[in-house]
Amino acid sequence: MLIRPSRVVWFCLSLSILCASAIAADNLGILGSKPKWDVLEHYQRTITHDEFAHLLNDVYCTHGIPNDLIRIDNDAAQIVTTQEPHNVFTLEFASDENSKTQIPRLWRPADSLPPAKSNKPLTGVRIALDPGHLGGKWAKMEERWFQVGDSKPVTEGDLTLRVSRMLASRLRKLGATVLFVRNSTQPVTSKRPADFNELARKILIKNGVPRPRDDVLNPKDPEKEGTIKFQSEILFYRYSEIRRRAVLVNTKLHPDLVVCLHFNAEGWGDPNSPTLIDTNHLHLLVNGSYLQDELAFDDERFEMIRRLLSRAYDEELAIADTVATSMARATGLPPYQYPTTQTTTKVGSSGYVYARNLLATRLYRCPVVYCEPYVMNSKDAFARIEAGDYDGTKEINGVQRKSIFREYADSVAEGLRDYYSKARGL
Ligand SMILES: [Zn+2]
Repeated sequence: MLIRPSRVVWFCLSLSILCASAIAADNLGILGSKPKWDVLEHYQRTITHDEFAHLLNDVYCTHGIPNDLIRIDNDAAQIVTTQEPHNVFTLEFASDENSKTQIPRLWRPADSLPPAKSNKPLTGVRIALDPGHLGGKWAKMEERWFQVGDSKPVTEGDLTLRVSRMLASRLRKLGATVLFVRNSTQPVTSKRPADFNELARKILIKNGVPRPRDDVLNPKDPEKEGTIKFQSEILFYRYSEIRRRAVLVNTKLHPDLVVCLHFNAEGWGDPNSPTLIDTNHLHLLVNGSYLQDELAFDDERFEMIRRLLSRAYDEELAIADTVATSMARATGLPPYQYPTTQTTTKVGSSGYVYARNLLATRLYRCPVVYCEPYVMNSKDAFARIEAGDYDGTKEINGVQRKSIFREYADSVAEGLRDYYSKARGL
């Protein structure tokens, strides 16, 4: 489940945008670190003008580029590193395809891997699985928890971990080296909400809540978003947690691919009396489609350019399309249609893949495929989640269905098998 465009989320989003410019002299996103623009020197002459322009215009900056922060000339791009004082990084283009120098990167595209046997198409591929959210005792805090009557509560972070463990064994059978970004309900970050009380207070004050309250009165408190408790919890379970996962991925795991596993949801209202709906759908995300406000942050602009230059997009889009096709076949779910095009851009050929600038898809420095199948509070998915895991099929709402966990894990594994088999010529 993504950060949803609910009232709460818009509030957080506008806070995140305002706060960084308001309280940090460095003009960074929330808990962001100062960009090391020198790193981009290694990417000089690795890309042609046309390829750079294509990726910028059609993938990463589909909503435009603010204030001339990136300018494309014939021979080079001028990228603003800081606006005050005004500093610019010059990225020189390769003059043509044949004169491109090698792209520095730690991950390996499928077509550069050594040969493999046809029954082990993932041999040598390092795949990190990132089960979304935390689950366990954190599920209520994360607002990834609901319960229908006396039935077992639905907690997204536990469902994603369960699928990840099933997926791991399937991928290992296909030859992959599987790594876990999270393999328990414990956070990767060592921080806790209380560590962010002061930052939460500053953010709230700068955003028009001059005397923020410490605590939420009750779950239905209409002003809970203006409390230090609510904001410090988001800083913990979203920003700090995902940034620490990125450090783990980028400095220890070094995968060739990260698969982020989520279950989707539509607004369910009161978590103790949730609304169950008929709508159910599937989509996958890759990084791109940055908003102008996001590009105005020095760190996000830098991370976008570094990602563009790594050419993760070419690999992750092809993987996402293949996995989406496999998941669509297995689940029979229709593609999700975002209600607006303000944050996403549809990409690829399957009809199920969107570009969007999420923290995880931006920060993990390798191809990232972010899966969002099943609306947890759809009548169908809810019944299947409650049915748990089982062999074979069971009749659910009048249809014979596999366990939802196996269907998820099997279809992702089959998609990856299909992609790597084809890309490695097996
Ligand atoms: Zn999620």
